[in-house]
Amino acid sequence: MNKKEILEHVTQMEEQIGQLYKQLGDVKGHVAKLLEENNRLTVENHHLRNRLDGQAEQEQKAGGKAAQSKEAPIGEGYDNLARLYEEGFHICNVHFGSPRRNEDCLFCLTFLNKNK
Ligand SMILES: [Zn+2]
Repeated sequence: MNKKEILEHVTQMEEQIGQLYKQLGDVKGHVAKLLEENNRLTVENHHLRNRLDGQAEQEQKAGGKAAQSKEAPIGEGYDNLARLYEEGFHICNVHFGSPRRNEDCLFCLTFLNKNK
């Protein structure tokens, strides 16, 4: 290798390192997003699981009562969904179960009004 070749080689390596560094930054961004998403889903899952457990408990307590009246379970289901919405989760079929981030959702509100 003569001096010119060495210099070209070093420049090439420099470029490669620059590209790798950029790629590393991109991957880091992706990982951060995935961790954030994972966190969000964990919280959401925890919330939904609690709600499910509470609902199962209520149904057990209600026992045969629910079977006697057809209207009661519908009202109860509505209350549960309304509460879930109040707690900040979507209950519409478009975004069901995902956090509303303090925004009202037209789909959810339409759904709530329809089932009142
Ligand atoms: Zn919604």
